[in-house]
Amino acid sequence: MKTKLIRINPENPEPLLVEEAARILKEGGLVAFPTETVYGLGGNGLDSEACKNIYIAKGRPSDNPLILHISQISELRPIVREIPLAAQKLMDAFWPGPLTMIFPKSQIVPLTTTGGLDTVAVRFPSHPVAKAIIRATGLPIAGPSANSSGKPSPTRASHVEFDLSGKIDMIVDGGAAEWGLESTIVDVTGEVPVILRPGAITKEMMESVVGEVMIDPAILTKPSDDLKPKAPGMKYTHYSPKAKVTLVKGNTEAVISKINELCVDERVQGKKTGVMATEKTKGCYHADVILSLGDRDKLEEIGANLFKLLRKFDYLGVDTVFSEVFPEEGEGLAIMNRLNKAAGYYRVEAEEAK
Ligand code: AMP
Ligand code: MG
Repeated sequence: MKTKLIRINPENPEPLLVEEAARILKEGGLVAFPTETVYGLGGNGLDSEACKNIYIAKGRPSDNPLILHISQISELRPIVREIPLAAQKLMDAFWPGPLTMIFPKSQIVPLTTTGGLDTVAVRFPSHPVAKAIIRATGLPIAGPSANSSGKPSPTRASHVEFDLSGKIDMIVDGGAAEWGLESTIVDVTGEVPVILRPGAITKEMMESVVGEVMIDPAILTKPSDDLKPKAPGMKYTHYSPKAKVTLVKGNTEAVISKINELCVDERVQGKKTGVMATEKTKGCYHADVILSLGDRDKLEEIGANLFKLLRKFDYLGVDTVFSEVFPEEGEGLAIMNRLNKAAGYYRVEAEEAK
């Protein structure tokens, strides 16, 4: 299959290009497009065949359900059985935006879309291109991240091209994704909303709207038989580059000297080393490749750059990457969740010099 690549205006998408992408989706084809989180791989969410093709193109396990994307609140009703009060409050506050909610699904949503579950994940994205394309189809659009399963999510059209060229009908290039981390997922089917995947909409932000919000404990630690994440996709070691990733925790000075020490050990063994640093520390490391995630005080910058950097280490043929860590709270929770997964939860403690 030849994949058509088109470039679109991210703020004011050209109507003819929007129509072209929507036509492919309506005919059952697959189109990758930008959203404010990461690039999504769109297909008709009510068409089992289109959804099957999404799983095939991504190499995604079929028990990992897809998120349905809508372009106006009125499109929610037909795909869910009920809208709980907490969901109503959360959508009033955060839609359109990087928040996905889990609802009991209606009859029209195929089980292929939901990986066999009786619930459905729904998001109303805010990106003008995503909104325009979905609106032009008049359909709920299934849109998982447009990467090969297991790879870091794509934040640029070039990442999608690298993973999926030849496997999908079209890639709509609308520049870099603003947030760079996937949406927050919250389950609103129970009494208290539960965060199944941390993202840009934080626990604190949701609590200010609905009161108590819980976090699925399985997302903070390595999934095990005793502790399985409620979002099926969260059990997979996602986001991993080919390089081995190690997180190094401790105070700044200790982290710098520990990472430099570890890099020496690896280089002795002939390994190409990489360090995921921040703006203030990037000059302090000795490694083959040193990349900065951005300003440590601007977590949104760190989040936006994370997947791009993980992919860059692979592109540069780095064997082993050492990364600084961030506080596991607020926006930092989403960053650490993805970093922990990239590292297979492997971290070392840097000890303070006595
Ligand atoms: P992606 O679309 O690649 O961002 O991944 C979607 C995430 O949403 C995966 O982790 C899925 O397991 C999760 N998800 C989708 N639908 C549901 C659902 N009905 N219940 C729980 N998690 C879901
Ligand atoms: Mg994904």
